[in-house]
Amino acid sequence: MQTFCSYHPTKPASWDCGACDSLLCDDCVVCRKVNQLGVTKEFHLCPKCNQEVKWLGVSNLLEPFWERLPRFFIYPFSLRPLILNIILCLAMLFFLENSLFNSLARFAIWGIWLKYSFSALQTTAKGNLNPPDVTAQNISKDFQEVFKQLGIYFVLAFLFGIVVNLFGKNFGILYGAIALLFLPSMIILLVSTQSLFQALNPFAFLRLPFRIGGGYLLMYFFLITLGGAPVVILNLTIELLPMAMVPIITIFFKNYYTLISYNLMGYVLLQYHEKIGYDIDYEDFARETRKKKIPTSPASPLLNEIEIQVKDGNYDQAIKIIQTEININNSTDLDIFDRYYQLLKLKNMSSDMLSHGKKYIDILIDSNNTSKACKVYIECSNVDKQFAPGSKGFVKLAGWLKKAGHSKEAIRAYSTFTKVYSKDPRIPNVYFRAAEILNERLGQKTKARNLLNGLIKKYPDHDIIPFVKNYLKGITI
Ligand SMILES: [Zn+2]
Ligand SMILES: [Zn+2]
Repeated sequence: MQTFCSYHPTKPASWDCGACDSLLCDDCVVCRKVNQLGVTKEFHLCPKCNQEVKWLGVSNLLEPFWERLPRFFIYPFSLRPLILNIILCLAMLFFLENSLFNSLARFAIWGIWLKYSFSALQTTAKGNLNPPDVTAQNISKDFQEVFKQLGIYFVLAFLFGIVVNLFGKNFGILYGAIALLFLPSMIILLVSTQSLFQALNPFAFLRLPFRIGGGYLLMYFFLITLGGAPVVILNLTIELLPMAMVPIITIFFKNYYTLISYNLMGYVLLQYHEKIGYDIDYEDFARETRKKKIPTSPASPLLNEIEIQVKDGNYDQAIKIIQTEININNSTDLDIFDRYYQLLKLKNMSSDMLSHGKKYIDILIDSNNTSKACKVYIECSNVDKQFAPGSKGFVKLAGWLKKAGHSKEAIRAYSTFTKVYSKDPRIPNVYFRAAEILNERLGQKTKARNLLNGLIKKYPDHDIIPFVKNYLKGITI
């Protein structure tokens, strides 16, 4: 059963706080990097009680392999493995005729693919669900891994020979079926222990399927069916293909199958790593998973902390955290300002809301956040008609209000401006803008005329006056 974050019901939980019994996702835990004797260590803490939290392992974050089968089929068709597969198949063309040298060459080419598949198994088991790069590391380095695998096949084949010799063909088939059943177990053991001896140790390879349980049989079933699939496809299409192409296409599909099965085994190892006893470290897993994610801006731990307090209904605590951040750490983070504003509004703390709203709206205007600035102004000026942002952005804001169709509020803003910033040189312009709205938007032509006449009287020498007089002529009542 998958468990979810107590605060983000759609996100699988990755951490467990034993102290307060909360299940938390990656966004919720607070990550502290501490330098201990020159080594940076990461600690993950509960945002509520500051205790270290326990990682739940990957199984909760992964969908079970049987729910993502289509993706195993697509995996070998990703660009990197596809190109490598095609190149290797084409290379095979040169070594098709029978000779010792050609056999060795074919073996080497096959080995490259097996090594690449093995790397795919390893990277998948670490949590990276993308095919590995085609690098020297992944196709040739540590080539002994390929030989170790061959060691498994060799031992199985050798025993097969003995069984057939001693007991006959039928027992041979029975042996083959049993060996095939435990082959994935051996390969998984080889990866997790890196020891051929462990992989061939009956106590180990017989026990592992029981640890995994029904999942192992299911995996086995898929591997067997998958193994049959290329043969079926080939039989269906063989008549449509030119004869010369048949060996190459066969190799292509064999490779395809190999990669799928290794990818699947890697995923099973990842999914059941706790049961198998394969250690996956949170840091490794996070690094590998991050590789496939499009980088997004990381959620701020402080915001998460605030969000958690809010979701728990501890508004006062959330307000306290924000006040510390703003007053002591001088934060001007827009998100924090927004949370604070919303909280003060929610708690009906009007005077705090107005004084914070003033700072908040100035930042909004500065960052040209028109719709939010308008909204905050409307809300605050509904509480206090004289609510006024700083003089610098106020006129701009009034313009935005008009543009957004909030004519009354725009008039209110212009009017407040003339009262609060009565010495501002932009006052005549502001009067004129207000008259414009009265005339054009609100149909209050008399009011507009009176306002403009007053403007002419008060500032007879201002630059704007000729323009105002001209405009006045156009207002016919
Ligand atoms: Zn806790
Ligand atoms: Zn969460």
